[in-house]
Amino acid sequence: MPDRPRPLVAGNWKMNGLRRAETVLHEIAAGYTPGLRIATELLVCPPATLLRGFAVAALGSGVAVGAQDCHPAQSGAFTGDLSAEMLADAGASYVIVGHSERRQYHREKDADVRAKAEAACRAGLTPIVCVGETREEREAGRTLAVVRRQVRGSLPEDASGATLVVAYEPVWAIGTGLTPTAADVAEVHALIRGELRRAVGRAEHGRVRILYGGSVKPANARELLGVEHVDGALVGGASLVAADFLAIAGAYLR
Ligand code: PEP
Repeated sequence: MPDRPRPLVAGNWKMNGLRRAETVLHEIAAGYTPGLRIATELLVCPPATLLRGFAVAALGSGVAVGAQDCHPAQSGAFTGDLSAEMLADAGASYVIVGHSERRQYHREKDADVRAKAEAACRAGLTPIVCVGETREEREAGRTLAVVRRQVRGSLPEDASGATLVVAYEPVWAIGTGLTPTAADVAEVHALIRGELRRAVGRAEHGRVRILYGGSVKPANARELLGVEHVDGALVGGASLVAADFLAIAGAYLR
């Protein structure tokens, strides 16, 4: 088994934040102490309107800035959409693709997510490919089958050599305060690790980080982030408050 990759704690701000929220980024940057920098990478994904400002404000802080979605095409007649190249040009280094809210409200399928992940790689961005079962799927005992299908269908067609991140986010845990047990998280992350071995290759799969997401808070971060094959967190609500986001990342401090 290759060494564990450096963890990533990523904040997904969703459709939250006006320009004045840049103060939160400054607070996060100020709290990103040398010890925390060694322990974990920090990423903030604000709404697209704030991306450029955040990228400039984060310069030199070590905090990475990312986007929440991208269009598969490089450019063209796609009113309202943003290409991965545009996001990279604005200063993003990551982009979330296939978040359950995109799958649910924009009817994105695995093939759409794959196209976006491939676009991200083309533009030099690291895609954070989200997967996760709904409550009904879990209750029907289909969690592993659903996640396996999503991983197989959503990663780039040729993932060997690609730089990517996978985020396991049970849909029923997002924004609800509910979390799976550590054993449930371990089971799904082990499955994803196995799928990555297949997709990325035996030698390389260990460097792909698998994040857990869904109601991660300061109070449960240490337990969830301590699970085997959990290489970081994708944090929604708690990432809007600098102290909470930093406390979650602080779970990696010894
Ligand atoms: C998310 O939306 O990616 C998420 C994990 O949200 P929350 O932390 O609020 O559950």
